[in-house]
Amino acid sequence: MKDTSKHQGLRNQLANVLKQKGIHDENVLNAVRKIPRHLFIDSSFEDHAYQDKAFPIAADQTISQPYTVAFQSQTLQIKPEDKVLEIGTGSGYQTAVLLELGAEVYSIERQHELFKRTSLFLPKIGYRAKKFIFGDGYQGYKEKAPFDKIIVTAGAPFVPKALLAQLKVGGMLLIPVGDKTQIMTLLIRKSPKEFEKHELGDFAFVPMLQKKN
Ligand code: SAH
Repeated sequence: MKDTSKHQGLRNQLANVLKQKGIHDENVLNAVRKIPRHLFIDSSFEDHAYQDKAFPIAADQTISQPYTVAFQSQTLQIKPEDKVLEIGTGSGYQTAVLLELGAEVYSIERQHELFKRTSLFLPKIGYRAKKFIFGDGYQGYKEKAPFDKIIVTAGAPFVPKALLAQLKVGGMLLIPVGDKTQIMTLLIRKSPKEFEKHELGDFAFVPMLQKKN
């Protein structure tokens, strides 16, 4: 698959749309301008790649809406070398944004088909996560904890305790909490025992499911 100047033009337009919707972090907007999102979805739907919409990928899952990816990335204030745990690798588009922002990314996916596909695809287009993990995000990733930032890209019925436990003091967990729709919830670890909670509006994600598949 190719990346052309037409695609570049569409990406620039998408970044403008996100700007109008309130994304102001230039690093995030530059990542959107750079990452060839059309390569992350089935080529027959290429035309949809640069609209600000979620879209179906394999295994009944979706690639998150660009606005949502940008909002989560901006909210977490990702800095170069931040150690980031991502729950829900999916298409890998959010992973690519985190990598463009300079993060060291550990990404967990519970669907084997997506895990396999995305862990092969991302390095092919030059995006190297520290590790792709086939596993259950409810458990986090103890081996590499604690993390500066944890991002959950599936709708969680509750905040998993393991994720709170795997956050550095000063670290942030961003997780959509709820069933049909979710409230984007930011938890900042103020001390080993204290978390500050911020609710950042309504979003819609596919559900965070238990166990691997
Ligand atoms: N960031 C992805 C979003 C994909 S949708 C993208 O932009 O493409 C959410 C993903 O979370 C799906 O791939 C789904 O399989 C995965 N998921 C759901 N529950 C999970 C869990 N408990 N652990 C890991 N991944 C999970």
